[in-house]
Amino acid sequence: MLLRGGGAGLLWSAGRGAMSVGARRGLWGGAGRGVPGPERRGKLDAAPVVQARVAGVSFQDRQEAVAALRQGEGLLLMREPLNEFDPRAIHVRSLGGRSLGYVPRDRTHLFPLPTTLAFVAAVGAGDHGLWGLTLCSKPTLPPLTVEFTPTSCHPRPQLGRGGLAEGTDAGPQEALERAVEAAEKEQCCGVCGAPATEIDQQYEYLEGALGVGGEEPYMVRIRKFVGVRRLCAACSGVRGLSPEEPGEGQEAEDALQTLMSCNRWTAQEAEAHLACAQTQWKERSGHEWAHDFSALRL
Ligand SMILES: [Zn+2]
Repeated sequence: MLLRGGGAGLLWSAGRGAMSVGARRGLWGGAGRGVPGPERRGKLDAAPVVQARVAGVSFQDRQEAVAALRQGEGLLLMREPLNEFDPRAIHVRSLGGRSLGYVPRDRTHLFPLPTTLAFVAAVGAGDHGLWGLTLCSKPTLPPLTVEFTPTSCHPRPQLGRGGLAEGTDAGPQEALERAVEAAEKEQCCGVCGAPATEIDQQYEYLEGALGVGGEEPYMVRIRKFVGVRRLCAACSGVRGLSPEEPGEGQEAEDALQTLMSCNRWTAQEAEAHLACAQTQWKERSGHEWAHDFSALRL
């Protein structure tokens, strides 16, 4: 058995649920990771821990990606409502964007957020040479992620007291204003808990292949409005980064620090996420997106 990282052997061979609470906490407080502020630390401590053996690691070129992981490395989990096999599927990816597998079906109900932070609890190769991966997550802890709006989505629907921008459906306008008003009553940042100053729009980018019978499948792409939330100036700075040169200048420097402290990422992990977000933005900008504001009609 080939193993990575101190203690990984124990974690790996001990199987699901056998990791001690101390070891689980360790992943959220490893050396070289960003230091969260006092409010965020409270959220971190309060969030329950979930551990799961990742499914589907032997498909496509995932074995190579899994073998390259290190214990304690950051991961991002994204839900996939347009997944053709399971609308509750949760995709497990490296911070560089590589596909690693899926959260097992019997655990997906434990992950309520569109995007979830996780760490590699254990990675290793079994007796048959097949690499396996166990992740450790705090699924209720809100992540701070970079998402650039694809250029093909402009004119960008703007949220605020003025409502949606021209060219978008005016139907949900009232619901939108109510949502913004409700969010403005919130005093604390929805991510880190610091005093809130800004309003943030949250979207999911949903992609899926549709095909009927023997027809050629075609891709469906939906930019789905998820909600509005209040953020502090630092977290809002991360969300407001420019996709052209996201890694340059003082703003980018501050954003990397905030990503590290909120997500408990190392500098390399924060940089990998930023680079991945830029690649994704370029890719998404090459496609047309349908807009879904159905969340405002509820
Ligand atoms: Zn914040």
